[in-house]
Amino acid sequence: MSADKKTISILEERRAQVLEVGEGTTGTLACERHSVAGAVSQRACVFCGSRVVLYPIADALHIVHGPVGCAVYTWDIRGSLSSGPELHRNSFSTDLREMDVIYGGEKKLRTCLLELINHYHPKAAFVYATCIVGIIGDDIDGVCRKVAAETGIPVLPVHSEGFKGTKKDGYRAACDALSRIIGTGDTSDVSPHSINILGEFNLAGEAWIIREYYERMGIQVVSTMTGDGRIDEISRAHGAKLNVVQCSGSMTSLAKRLKEDYGIPFIRVSYFGIEDMAKALYDVADFFPDAPEIMDRARTLVTEEVSALLPALEPMRRDLAGKKAAIYVGGAFKAFSLIKALRLLDMKVVLAGSQTGGPEDYEQLREMCDPGTVLVDDANPVELSKFIVEKGVDLFIGGVKERPMAYKLGVAFCDHNHERKIALAGFVGMLNFAREVHLSVTSPVWRFAPRFAAAESGDRP
Ligand code: SF4
Repeated sequence: MSADKKTISILEERRAQVLEVGEGTTGTLACERHSVAGAVSQRACVFCGSRVVLYPIADALHIVHGPVGCAVYTWDIRGSLSSGPELHRNSFSTDLREMDVIYGGEKKLRTCLLELINHYHPKAAFVYATCIVGIIGDDIDGVCRKVAAETGIPVLPVHSEGFKGTKKDGYRAACDALSRIIGTGDTSDVSPHSINILGEFNLAGEAWIIREYYERMGIQVVSTMTGDGRIDEISRAHGAKLNVVQCSGSMTSLAKRLKEDYGIPFIRVSYFGIEDMAKALYDVADFFPDAPEIMDRARTLVTEEVSALLPALEPMRRDLAGKKAAIYVGGAFKAFSLIKALRLLDMKVVLAGSQTGGPEDYEQLREMCDPGTVLVDDANPVELSKFIVEKGVDLFIGGVKERPMAYKLGVAFCDHNHERKIALAGFVGMLNFAREVHLSVTSPVWRFAPRFAAAESGDRP
């Protein structure tokens, strides 16, 4: 790929999804569109969207009804740590082949389900429909219903045929499946000061950090959806008094449904960075005015954590001051917190984009970002590379698909997505994040990158 900005341009059909923030910029950034064919979007498919949301439920069977490739592609895609069972770490597939496509795969699905349920005794089973299942028209609802009746556990179809929309449609299909479990459990011992944590996937232990904060405040966490998830906890989620939604792209539809069906209100939070983490605790405490001691405990917790954290950040902040960062994440809400956290480290954000942001998200991003910052929806590698080179980025924050791009361009990288192994949520997460960023940006390896050679010769791109 050429790094010469003069040779890279935006596809005509993509122009409305790219915008440079400027003084008095008006107009909206186009978003929530299907990816442009040939643009090689960074987005995953509908099925992958469902899989990443449901995958952390550790005591359930996850079976991918389709060719083996769909299952392999998403196998162990997230850290999704479990404090108990690890059934989710297996990737089961019906391995549909040519004859199944011709004669149908329902029989094979039933056989696989019965065999796996008898062998592993899961609490529930999720059956993911892939592209080919949508094409051949297998009745997975019918198979799931019959196997559920035979085995006595919930067997839930997930309508996630890869071609039928964007990754966001996969989130909705996952939320549909979750809503069929919620409401089936006993809520008699649920506290009047209780919450569900939605949109936290415990990639590297974050759900444990957040849960511990809320428990220190005297809040009961009924369920976490879906990090370190358990079917029994999810079945009782309708007993909680408040839903606290982090990954808004994936879980807002479920929160809205729980509001309609059970009258449970929801708030949007982020657990990333000092400011947003503290707000997430205070907002929950605010919701329970009948228990002022919850707010008192929240204040004590925040004071203790922040006073330990700030001095530890200071030396890294000095080294990072003025460095430029590019952010490309799944949901736009995460980008807001990243911008604030990078500002705390005295860094400047020059590119911010997401796979699934909505119009309100991008409007907020535009208000937050400095003039000259590029905003981009549903980007592709060519666009991201172009802006990284043009803006002279020092740090790229993204996921597995963005990492090789950064390294090829000789840019420091921080994984803020599914595959990371270090917890980045909470106050301790902010310290981990700063360390990651600092280590990568100040690494001596970048002096060998071609862009520095170009800079030294006075030709920095
Ligand atoms: S696009 Fe279709 S075939 Fe490809 S991984 Fe997704 S579900 Fe499977």
